Amino acid sequence: MRTAIISDVHGNLDALRVVMDHIDTQSVDRTICLGDIVGYGPNPVECVDIVADRCEWALMGNHDFGVLYEPTNFNAIAEQAAYWTRAQFDNGEDPQGAERRWRFLGQLRVRVKDGAFLCVHGSPRAPINEYMFPDDAMNSPVKMQQIFDRIERYGMVGHTHVPGVFTDEPDFYSPADLNNTYELTNTEKAIINPGSVGQPRDYDPRASYAILDEGHVEFHRLEYDVVAVAQKIRMIPELNDWLGERLIEGR
Ligand code: ZN
Repeated sequence: MRTAIISDVHGNLDALRVVMDHIDTQSVDRTICLGDIVGYGPNPVECVDIVADRCEWALMGNHDFGVLYEPTNFNAIAEQAAYWTRAQFDNGEDPQGAERRWRFLGQLRVRVKDGAFLCVHGSPRAPINEYMFPDDAMNSPVKMQQIFDRIERYGMVGHTHVPGVFTDEPDFYSPADLNNTYELTNTEKAIINPGSVGQPRDYDPRASYAILDEGHVEFHRLEYDVVAVAQKIRMIPELNDWLGERLIEGR
């Protein structure tokens, strides 16, 4: 079975469409989403509709949580974007759609055990908010140990917007280190991050996602019109221009 893994769409419809079109060419059996469908980007409503329609299940990210409940630990730019996002769902033009979307956001799951994988947005230790940064493999061995102690063999996370694979060595491998393919082994634990569809932060602005196949993970990057999305963000006063600039820089 081939499973497409998307994460951190962040209301970026242009990126999501390109990724979904690519998934359609990859003999994928199903698609799953690791959270943060909304927040930052200019098209949260459309992105929720696509994820609700196309994904077998989706996780609750900190931005989904922030829009649904309250923004916790957000900086001023992210908080303002969260309130703007909430207003898009409640604009009054489509009350039935609003009801359906709020219900969808409300039933997002915090952790899913999917076959051999424990799937969370943040980390197995703190599923919604904790980051697993690539540097943690070098600098935070205790944190890594506590995280790996919480998974049997394999895990999936999003949240950092940086694609790659953590192993219990501990180590971190970027897709470039892996030639875009990671072979799952029975000897090491591994946690996969598919990167971000809508706001990559590894200085590569292309949309990122991954495909899990029997025994290996493939990382994919796709170009889309980043400048057009930055322009959409510029036209919305409540979304800070920096949210568009960072898309262009991929950070
Ligand atoms: Zn995110």
